[in-house]
Parts: sequence; structure tokens; C-alpha cells
Amino acid sequence: MSNLDDIVSLCKRRGFIFQGSDVYGGMAGTWDFGPLGTALKKKIMDSWWKFWVEDREDMYGVDAAIIMNPITWQASGHTETFNDPLVECKACHGRFRADKLVDGATESITTEQFLAANVKCPTCGKIDWGDVRKFNMMFKMTVGPVADDEHIAYLRPETAQGIFTNYKNVVDTIYPNIPFGIAQQGKAFRNEISPRDYILRDRECSQMEIEYFVHPNAWEESFDELVKENHRFLTEKMGLSTDKIHDEEVAAEDRAHYSKRTIDIMFDYPNGREELMGIAYRTDFDLSNIAKASGKSMEYRDKNSGEVFVPHVVEPSIGVERLILAVLAEAYKEDEIDGNKRVVLALPEDLAPYRFCVSPLLKNKPELVEKADSVYQMLRKKYGNVTWDDSGNIGKRYRKQDEIGTPKCVVIDFDTLEDDTVTVRDRDTAKQERVKISEL
Ligand SMILES: [Zn+2]
Repeated sequence: MSNLDDIVSLCKRRGFIFQGSDVYGGMAGTWDFGPLGTALKKKIMDSWWKFWVEDREDMYGVDAAIIMNPITWQASGHTETFNDPLVECKACHGRFRADKLVDGATESITTEQFLAANVKCPTCGKIDWGDVRKFNMMFKMTVGPVADDEHIAYLRPETAQGIFTNYKNVVDTIYPNIPFGIAQQGKAFRNEISPRDYILRDRECSQMEIEYFVHPNAWEESFDELVKENHRFLTEKMGLSTDKIHDEEVAAEDRAHYSKRTIDIMFDYPNGREELMGIAYRTDFDLSNIAKASGKSMEYRDKNSGEVFVPHVVEPSIGVERLILAVLAEAYKEDEIDGNKRVVLALPEDLAPYRFCVSPLLKNKPELVEKADSVYQMLRKKYGNVTWDDSGNIGKRYRKQDEIGTPKCVVIDFDTLEDDTVTVRDRDTAKQERVKISEL
């Protein structure tokens, strides 16, 4: 099992993930993706889009604005209920999530329950607490030049509402047959009281969400199909192993009040089992709220039967950073090749930042460098994500590429000049074979 510290260190050392605003000492709860992390993130998001939207006939994409009309968050209940229990230490003014300090507590912990637990302040060790207060996690902002209450808006706390608010636009322009889904990828913001667990609980994250609209009597088969397909996506496309993925049926008392069924898909991260994604049956909760708040009908008319109804919704929702960490944790391995220890990132070929690394055997032989460059340019044209390395010796180059997950290293040597074959070295087996350039 990989260790989280090793992954964090690799990600920093090799340019996958940096602390946000690193140069100024950081910004809590934010992370920046470097060149390799950006490549990995984009490939993961593109793979999801292809799997769910492009390869299916029943999915449509939207890309909604991050700043939405604040009525959105009243209608969805976020203004009222998107709260964490906040408690402040009167001695050191440290602020904490009350439920995280008390074993077994839930988000609805009361002041009495909290004080009864008699916990010490994690910062100063004293017991001198204020009341438990509800803290709304939406980032508040003002829109336009006047900073008064009339102009308050929020950074969206989820991408889902950008889908629901476009449901009618999609129905009126595309006329999809039910069941159909609307998918969106994008940033979401949560003002976490205490961001932690690396990129698992951050203040700014990316989400990939689908709202799947179904006939109210037919939600169960769609729910099952979406659970099954999510497993297929996670294992076949993301390379996660089946034995690390667990479905957890969320008990009625822990579900959102509108949800009739929720499954959390958990993953065995290096630091323990954590939620990777969720699939929730949301009934007609969102569309009905929008209908009430907007005065517009959210009804769907079936083209064949003529039946008119408000669709129900099944929502698969996944956080991109959670998925990235799962992919990295699954791929990270330490092993030994010819007596040398190495770190290898055994990423699926389609997710690796670079598909090939091209090298001349020696960098001081112009004829090798020239030939290697022509192979490099040819592969770049064909695959795009190809890198070049002529530093150090071949063994060191292999180690460097293993660590960032490059599946194949292509080396041009003197034989190449004779017969147009190259050495292709495989990341996972460390085996080398001669291959014709035309067959790369
Ligand atoms: Zn304190």
C-alpha cells in the first residue's frame, strides 16, 4: 500500500501538484497543478467526458456560469442548510468544526452535546469554548461596484444547480427522449472551516456531475445502470482495482432529506477508506423547487405517450481531486529492477502525462541526436504528448520517466542509423525490445 507522504512528495518534486500561492507562503485549502498534474487532470476529465457524454446517445453537456443568480441557492436550500457546525476557542480564538472534535458526532451537534464531551482545544489545550454556531460554507461576494446586501452573490458550491437551471433550456432546444442526462464539469467552492487531507478536502475543487432525468416510476433501473457504469469507468478507464472500491448504502437518517436512496462509492486511500463519489436519487426535489421559485413549468411531455410529468433525477457526482488522488495512489509503486530500488507510477497509458520519452543514446553524437529528433517530431505529430530527454545516462532517464508514469522510452542508437529500429523500454516490466520506427 502506498503512503500518502510519498505521493505528496513525488507530486511536488516532479511538478504534479503544488500548494496554492506557494511563492507567497501558500493559501490554505488551495492547490495548483503543475505541468504534469495539469496533463493528468485534463486526461482524467477528458476520459470522463468521452465515457459519459460522447460515447453515449442519452447525454448532453452544459457549461454554466460559476456566478449564478442568488435565487438559485435559496431555491436549492443552500442558503438555509449548507452549514457546518463552527466552534471557537475563547482562549486562543482557534476555530474548529465541532463535529470533528467529538468522536461519533454528526453535523447537527448542539452546544450542549459538544460541551458535554469536554474536549481540549487542539491548538492551546484549554477548555474554554463558545457556542456551536451554524457556519454557511458558501463563499459570499458582491457583484458590481456597490458592495451592499442587494448585490450579494456566491461562488457556486456545486455544479449540479448549473445543470438543473438549464434543464428547461436543454429540453426546449434538444427535445431529448427520457431518460436522458445532462453533464457538467467545472469548479465548485466550499469555505471549509479546516481544509485537510491534502487535495481531498479543499476550498476550491473541480466536479464532474450528471443529472439523469427519468420517469418517476423508472428511477430504480437507471440508478442501477449508473452505479454499474460508474464501476466500469473507475476500473476500466481510471485503472482502479476492484478490491479497493466499495459501495456503501447511505442509511436513511444520514441521507439528504429529499433523497430516497444514496450510494457512496468509497475508495481505500493510503490514509484509509474515504468517499470517492456518490450516486443519489434526488426525486423531483430540485426541479420542483425551481418551478416554485421561477414560476416556470419544469414538466416534460412524453413524445410517444403524451404523458406530462416532472422528471425525477439520479445524480452521479464525483470530485476531480478525489479521483486524481485515487488514480495516483493506485499507480504509485516502489520495486526493484536489477538490484536498484525505483519508484514507478503505473498509470493507465491513456492517463500518463507523456506516452513516450525519446532519447538519443549519446547526446554528443550529432547523427544520433538528429535521428532521435526526427523520431521525436514524428511521435509528437502522431500522439502529442511525447517528451525528450538527453540528460544523464540511460538508466537515470528510465528512473525519471518511471517516476512520472511514462509507459515507453524510445532510444535511438547506432543500429537505428543502419536498420531504422529503436529500443523500446517498457515502464512496468523494464523489458527492452527492438521495434521498427514505422511500427511505433
Ligand atoms: Zn485554544
